[in-house]
Amino acid sequence: MKSRLRVPELVAADPRHARSAADRYRERIRVHNPRLNAFITQVDPEVPPAAGPLAGVPIAHKDIFVTRGIRTTCGSRMLADFIPPYDATVVERLARAGCILVGKTNMDEFAMGSSNETSAFGPVRNPWDPERVPGGSSGGSAAAVAAGLVPVATGTDTGGSIRQPAALCGVTGFKPSYGRVSRFGMIAFASSMDQAGVLARSAEDVAWVLRGMAGHDPRDSTSVDRPVPDYVAALTRGIRGLRIGIVRNFFDDGLWPTVADRIQAALAVLEAAGARLTDVTLPNLSLSVPVYYVLAPAECSSNLARYDGVRFGHRADRPEDLFDLYCRSRSEGFGEEVQRRILIGTYVLSHGYYDAYYLKAQRVRRLIRNDFLRAFESVDLLAGPTTPTPAFRLGEKTADPLTMYLNDIYTIGVNLAGLPALSVPAGLVDGLPVGLQLIGRDFDEETLFAAAADFQRRTEWHRAEPPGFEDVSG
Ligand code: GLN
Repeated sequence: MKSRLRVPELVAADPRHARSAADRYRERIRVHNPRLNAFITQVDPEVPPAAGPLAGVPIAHKDIFVTRGIRTTCGSRMLADFIPPYDATVVERLARAGCILVGKTNMDEFAMGSSNETSAFGPVRNPWDPERVPGGSSGGSAAAVAAGLVPVATGTDTGGSIRQPAALCGVTGFKPSYGRVSRFGMIAFASSMDQAGVLARSAEDVAWVLRGMAGHDPRDSTSVDRPVPDYVAALTRGIRGLRIGIVRNFFDDGLWPTVADRIQAALAVLEAAGARLTDVTLPNLSLSVPVYYVLAPAECSSNLARYDGVRFGHRADRPEDLFDLYCRSRSEGFGEEVQRRILIGTYVLSHGYYDAYYLKAQRVRRLIRNDFLRAFESVDLLAGPTTPTPAFRLGEKTADPLTMYLNDIYTIGVNLAGLPALSVPAGLVDGLPVGLQLIGRDFDEETLFAAAADFQRRTEWHRAEPPGFEDVSG
């Protein structure tokens, strides 16, 4: 029996099949994970009785979602021993739908990073080339799906952390609209942008899982109370007649010509399928990276204040006084990138700089959102590359945070605007995957599913398997 099954194939009527599917994936994790480091914690699967729309589907959760009784680290030394007393809403809903938890995936510390190199548990390696990064911050989830260690995994996306690793690992990654999925129990980084989503091989698999986790949650006041459409039904709607705007700003100097070629070829597939392509410019988009690196650190400096060694997190040994306790607990618990963000965030929020940085950034954020809204007056979807380059080498960008930040140049604007977006595999450049990004209107996940599924009926890129991780039984 092949071990890489589609989610609808995995949905089991018989609990014995669920057990054997989970065991097959567990075996692949055992064999392949030592080379990839995609998991922080492996879980001996508890197979629930086969009921529910996702019964028998093995799943991995990014280690940012709290899991009752199972260590949840957020990729940080700060939470290295944290055993949560409750489940995140996403975890609870998917368990109730019948998913089988097989492990918690590695990630950049507190989801801050684009390469998984800020994890306190060591970097994840890209299954397509172990000398390269898988992207981040949901790099463990992306690598695990790409290598066939799990059929689906959750992720979170604050500035690109689902779409960018999905692109670099050759899987499908979906970031829903802000408010579509509950953030309750999802450890906060930048709360006005954080959103949970799904990484899987195909748009079809994503639709099945997102349908099981989306929807209003009274425990998250930013989750939106509107009905969850049937994403699975949307898969068959097709591309014909959709107006797709090509974001010209994305085809800038930083985009590798070889990546641009793959994206052009993908756009030609959309056109052949009956989409009408037009050019679109988003005038303020070039400001999205600087705006994000004011707002995200500001929010993180506030959210991470709770890790003081008293209320939460690692506690330093034998403190001399309270100041020493705070200072050493936080210096020992947080890595360099997280400390850098807290310092920047504290600075931009401080008296005298608040107006110049934080308030100004909020205003530009609104302009960026308005650019998107204007574009959506004449198109149904926006399209472009997910990243400017394929996966880079481990260590290649760690010395220069600004170069690292620029890897998210095409994804960050979407989070500032709160829109839904996805990345689908669109081919290989020098043997490494690249992703096509599609962006939708507020709460119009269905059109994204329709377009992505049609694209995947016409292409084979999402079925490509990294060398050495091909589907072999057992
Ligand atoms: N790479 C971006 C950052 O470092 C985005 C991370 C994310 O989406 N969580 O903040």
